[in-house]
Amino acid sequence: MPKEIINLSLANPRGFCAGVDRAILIVEKALEKYGAPVYVHHEVVHNKYVINDLNKKGAIFVDSLKDIPKTSHVIFSAHGVSKAIKKQAHDFNLIAIDATCPLVTKVHSEVNKLSKKEHTIIMIGHKGHPEVDGTMGQIDENSPHSEIHLVENIEGVEKLNFINSNSLSYVSQTTLSMDDTKKIIDSLKKKYPSISGPKNDDICYATQNRQEAVKKMLKQHDLIFVIGSKNSSNSNRLVEIAKERMVEAILIDDMSNFKKSWLKNKKNIGITAGASAPEILVQELIREIKKNKHVLISEINGIEENIIFKLPKI
Ligand code: SF4
Repeated sequence: MPKEIINLSLANPRGFCAGVDRAILIVEKALEKYGAPVYVHHEVVHNKYVINDLNKKGAIFVDSLKDIPKTSHVIFSAHGVSKAIKKQAHDFNLIAIDATCPLVTKVHSEVNKLSKKEHTIIMIGHKGHPEVDGTMGQIDENSPHSEIHLVENIEGVEKLNFINSNSLSYVSQTTLSMDDTKKIIDSLKKKYPSISGPKNDDICYATQNRQEAVKKMLKQHDLIFVIGSKNSSNSNRLVEIAKERMVEAILIDDMSNFKKSWLKNKKNIGITAGASAPEILVQELIREIKKNKHVLISEINGIEENIIFKLPKI
């Protein structure tokens, strides 16, 4: 029986952002210069394929600095770390290389500045995400009256109870849903009209562009594949955008989990990839689909990205 024909559209932009490119390069350059093993605090970026690949090259990923032999090199992940972790690395005689994305560092500086002014800061983000832990850990230790509180949703805003709202500010995680974050900020501004914050939010260009690109695909597609790992915040947000608009969406980062039943009755399939997912996985997914269907591939035009972040001294 001849294979059925389906249309496969590829979102643009998709996949690696400048911060992820930079973080991976930092690990590779450190391995080149110092030799294996090089230790990395947490997953350098949230992608299983990337982590396995760097692991094979000699990177060791640890959740605690206690697991690193003294005087070794340690790389801080793209998500950033708290001041306490930086101090701990120093106390353990580790040589730190910072792969924090410069756009996360920008939020860190903002928190530090606000905290020096003794502000009460509201961090919009997801509990337990390393970026949130790192950003909340930027409070200035010499500013005893400064505080930072995490808010994950509108219900969280409702629970806030500040008597003095004059020195109240907000910052956000860089990889949130633009729509949800806007709603949270609107409700913060409604409750505390004098609250200050960034012009819109701290959501980075890469997260915004990938969300806009997936929104553009929704009308014409009956299934969207999002390449990304389960712990990738920006990839999960892409899945949510599709599902909220009643379009089936599947998060996948390992083609051994691919099910051909997913393709049943589908005529127009879209593919995108989160900011930490490599293009090689997009091509692997296309190969899987081609085993089952005859595909007509098209690229959807989108914003061109040409941001490159400078590497730190390694
Ligand atoms: Fe930086 Fe955004 Fe990429 Fe995160 S998703 S590494 S904040 S550019």
